Amino acid sequence: IKRIALLTSGGDAPGMNAAIRAIVRTGIYNNLEVVGIKNGFSGLLKKDFVEMKSNSVSKIISRGGTILKSARCKEFKLKETREKAFANLREMGIDALIVNGGDGSFRGADLLSKEFGFPVIGIPCTIDNDIYGTDFTIGFDTAINTVIEAVDKIRDTAESHNIIFFVEVMGRDSGFIALYTSIASGAEATLLPEVKTDIKQICSYMEQERRANKTSGIIIVAEGDKEGGATEIARKVKEQLPEYETRVTILGHIQRGGNPSCKDRVLASILGHGAVTALLEGKQGVMVGMAHNRTVYTPLEETYLKHDQIDHNWIEVSKIISL
Ligand code: ATP
Repeated sequence: IKRIALLTSGGDAPGMNAAIRAIVRTGIYNNLEVVGIKNGFSGLLKKDFVEMKSNSVSKIISRGGTILKSARCKEFKLKETREKAFANLREMGIDALIVNGGDGSFRGADLLSKEFGFPVIGIPCTIDNDIYGTDFTIGFDTAINTVIEAVDKIRDTAESHNIIFFVEVMGRDSGFIALYTSIASGAEATLLPEVKTDIKQICSYMEQERRANKTSGIIIVAEGDKEGGATEIARKVKEQLPEYETRVTILGHIQRGGNPSCKDRVLASILGHGAVTALLEGKQGVMVGMAHNRTVYTPLEETYLKHDQIDHNWIEVSKIISL
């Protein structure tokens, strides 16, 4: 291979820029030409291409978001759209593609690889940490640090005013962000999509706390909780316990932005390098991940058909140490 392309797709995640930088620099080091595709798969269809040089990626390692921009492209689910994408790659003389994104992006990438035999490598970038084939995804560490910084601040008000705060965190259908941040911030309770939420149980727990003279607290609610988000759960609790002071804080998009943590920059750098070396070794149709501090490769198909699950023992641990 002589000429490779890369794109960022799906939700942005802190560390995507560090991955872009590592891909470009590793490519150039190996005498490859590197092409950046803007706006994910949409840019691939519109031939929104930019030649990447070593200085194109100067001073971006510390920046959140993605300099290549990201987009959702629904039409990519159609075969004729992917045919167009493949034709554009060929026309631009591109021999391989690196897709930085989440499981949706890997579905698209895998189809491109299988339908046209085109070499594609995936790099896991999502704050949700829900991708099979890697211990951690790029962006997760930064996001959980942002959350605990916010929760520590909220706790000051909770304690000063005797308020129970329901803090909603991101993660879609996955409870990784909620569980990690709950343990790290010493939250009084955690509501996860993986466990059925019992409003009665929360109420009796709060009553028990009150008997122990504890009238403030933090309850972390994963946005994907099946009983509804933090607003809905707080409303149901208030119905049962009207005398309690409750507030809802939805942290929202502050969790996706910000300068990547050291861990995310290192992970992105190693995986970016690993993606290019994988292509040079002839690998394709795989995602590069990190397991037990080693670079590992997983067929793209497995990354979206299987799911990385939270460890249910950790839920018990979080309960025990928050009593
Ligand atoms: P995040 O986890 O941050 O949301 P993601 O990669 O899962 O990232 P999606 O919006 O699910 O984000 O997918 C990104 C893009 O991948 C879509 O806009 C679409 O272009 C492509 N894609 C998703 N699912 C498919 C599919 N089934 N077939 C083909 N392409 C797909």
